Amino acid sequence: MRGVVAAGFVPGVRSRARAALRDLLEEFVAAVRAEPFDPSRGARIGAELVDLRMSAPPVLGTTVTLFAGRLPAAMGGPAGDETRQRTAARGGPAGGESRQRTAAMGGPAGDETRQRIMALLGTLSTGFVAAQRDAALRAAEEMNRAEKIHWRGVQADLQQRLQQALLHRPDTGLPNEQYLRKHLAETIAGRGGERLGLCLVSLDRYDEVTDTLGHENGVLLLAEVARRLRPLGFLAHLADDQFAILLVGTGGVDDVVKVADRVSRLLAHEVAVTAGVVERAAAGTDPDGWLHDARLALRWATQDNARPGVFEAGRAEDDRRRHRVAATIPAALAAGEFTLRYQPLVRLADRAVIGVEALARWHRLEPRQFIPMAERTGVIHELGRHLLERACRAGAARDGLRISVNVSPVQLAAPGLVATVADVLHRTGLPAGRLQLEITETAAVIEHRAVLDRLAGLGLRLALDDFGTGYASLAELVTLPFAEVKLAAEFLAVPRSGTAEVLRGVVGLCHALGVTVTAEGIETAEQERVLREAGCDHGQGFLFGRPEDGLPS
Ligand code: C2E
Ligand code: CA
Ligand code: CA
Repeated sequence: MRGVVAAGFVPGVRSRARAALRDLLEEFVAAVRAEPFDPSRGARIGAELVDLRMSAPPVLGTTVTLFAGRLPAAMGGPAGDETRQRTAARGGPAGGESRQRTAAMGGPAGDETRQRIMALLGTLSTGFVAAQRDAALRAAEEMNRAEKIHWRGVQADLQQRLQQALLHRPDTGLPNEQYLRKHLAETIAGRGGERLGLCLVSLDRYDEVTDTLGHENGVLLLAEVARRLRPLGFLAHLADDQFAILLVGTGGVDDVVKVADRVSRLLAHEVAVTAGVVERAAAGTDPDGWLHDARLALRWATQDNARPGVFEAGRAEDDRRRHRVAATIPAALAAGEFTLRYQPLVRLADRAVIGVEALARWHRLEPRQFIPMAERTGVIHELGRHLLERACRAGAARDGLRISVNVSPVQLAAPGLVATVADVLHRTGLPAGRLQLEITETAAVIEHRAVLDRLAGLGLRLALDDFGTGYASLAELVTLPFAEVKLAAEFLAVPRSGTAEVLRGVVGLCHALGVTVTAEGIETAEQERVLREAGCDHGQGFLFGRPEDGLPS
């Protein structure tokens, strides 16, 4: 017994022990990757650690910490090629060391790897302890009761240290997501009477940092973020670019919003952040619910461009309801539930109706809700084709009227759009010159130049919708084949001094380029007058007519 204890990290033994430790780590990594997987291999590695005399009680903790601490590096080290190949083979993201590490420690593709590590560490600890006990028994036949208790303590300590290693991030050493969940559960159980706040912080464009400055600098940035945020509360590090701060005893959501604001101020020189916060009484809450809701709030922050996003139960319910309804879009489409309303487009000079804009309708949601959802799920392609065909069919029966149909930027990105439009024109018999496609002004419009050219090549008109909402650069837009610009209603919403001059400028510029101008959302005769004086060609709005079931007579 004494002998084992005395043989800890004696200087002469140290380098040999290090080399042996490296070998054992390699063996461990090989055991993780072996097919078929055999968890009992861990027990043998544990026993060898004892033989190396690295596991006497005084150094036991050091050995375990060292071993578990070096594991992530060993998993991503020279032997890591195989992992990378496997990740690639599963269609996962190729690459960087950090991703590989994440995978090794339980990232997206690493669940199985992670389970294997846990199993091996489990048997390692039993092999470890069993071999130690044998050695100790050999050394001292007469182990007294006190020593037995001591060994039990060692085993518990070992288990705890292994747990510790598995509950922390290897790069920042901060508690990881698993730890945060555990800690949340304990806090809820122990502080049921108090309110808690959770602030989720996401570093904007962290990938760009590592791509341009390298992985090393990425890790330095994370360490700096960790250092600055640690004083704010219980800090956890969930993913490369995601941190969470748990606050106990908050007095309302404002307390958490303030912390989120402090986070952006503290990191102002390093990195921009987006935050999602949730705050409520702890009693009876589900630990997983906290993280889920904070993630939702983070998503809202991105959607609304609000910093931070604040969780609201009502909005979450609305989101859920809308997603449930959106899931029925394909069936509703098949059942013919989508219809069109037609709103007149008038010539401002004499209010003559020169055309209509076709606007989609569904009894379950507003277009501003279901169009984005159809875009997200991809059903927009089928929905768009269906509506285009209906509009063209209606238009073909009415000579002289221009039919203006909305096309989502998502549809532009699909390869079949030009052929579909040509086919619909052919089958409905609407002359191409009477069809106008409205495409919303977004930065992406520029990327679809080739598609726009081919659409214009069919002989139809292209209109740039919602112009002035601020994405596209005018210099680039003038090179695209738009025949018309539709001024967003926002242009008229706030009558300011100078509005008239701006309008005249925009209209003049468009006319110089041979582009006609339609103003949207005209509700008052005063707006009509200003637009007419500015030289605007056409108008649309409740003043002239609301969207109606049929074409105007
Ligand atoms: P948008 O293309 O800008 O359509 C104009 C919107 O303004 C329509 O809303 C119309 O009803 C509304 N509007 C017209 N005159 C006035 C007015 O004087 N005052 C006010 N306050 N509003 C007016 P709607 O029908 O709710 O459509 C909303 C948006 O949904 C459309 O904006 C368009 O982006 C999208 N959308 C509608 N139908 C379709 C479609 O068939 N396909 C695609 N991709 N998007 C569509
Ligand atoms: Ca439109
Ligand atoms: Ca518009």
